[in-house]
Amino acid sequence: MSCLTVATKNPGKLREIREILGSEARLLSLADFPDVGDIVEDGRTFEANAIKKALAVASQTGHVSLADDSGLEVDALDGAPGVYSARFAGEKATDEQNNRKLLRLLEDVPDAQRTARFRCVIAVGAPDGSVQTAEGTAEGRILHSPRGTGGFGYDPLFLVSGLRRTFAELPSEEKNRISHRGNALRSAYSMLSQFL
Ligand code: IMP
Repeated sequence: MSCLTVATKNPGKLREIREILGSEARLLSLADFPDVGDIVEDGRTFEANAIKKALAVASQTGHVSLADDSGLEVDALDGAPGVYSARFAGEKATDEQNNRKLLRLLEDVPDAQRTARFRCVIAVGAPDGSVQTAEGTAEGRILHSPRGTGGFGYDPLFLVSGLRRTFAELPSEEKNRISHRGNALRSAYSMLSQFL
């Protein structure tokens, strides 16, 4: 039986991926491979980073590997923070510091121009160097102050299009149904079918 290694040490992300792919999925994570070193995310696109991570982990573990890279694109900021979402306010910035910086930069921007989207690219790479990608987005708008306690990252500031709630106000199953990561994983389903 083939196993899929998810290129993350983040238990929250692994849980989210497991919830979306179903409990039958045969998943390992980097917690099972402590010798795999840190992979520097220095690509200029989500796709470049996801491919780099998936292939590095596949070659070091000998297993087909799934990596994702994701972030927030704000139209009024020309797509920032984008690939810098995790370190928007500095290399070791907390979610709260990143959110504060985002609110500061958008201080004078009216509601109609606060449109944004989360984007996620999933790459599935094999030890032989072959790789495939899938992408998902979730559209919304940036609020003026945080709302909700769930999720992580920019979730409390992200009002989901068509809903009156932020990602941080949705139960995780509901977020997974409409999130960029959920959409990317569902679109990657056919390349993952051998592991499900
Ligand atoms: P990565 O894909 O783990 O590199 O995520 C990059 C950063 O994008 C995270 O640290 C968050 O700041 C942001 N991000 C990605 N997905 C989400 C999400 O679902 N909610 C909130 N923030 C997110």
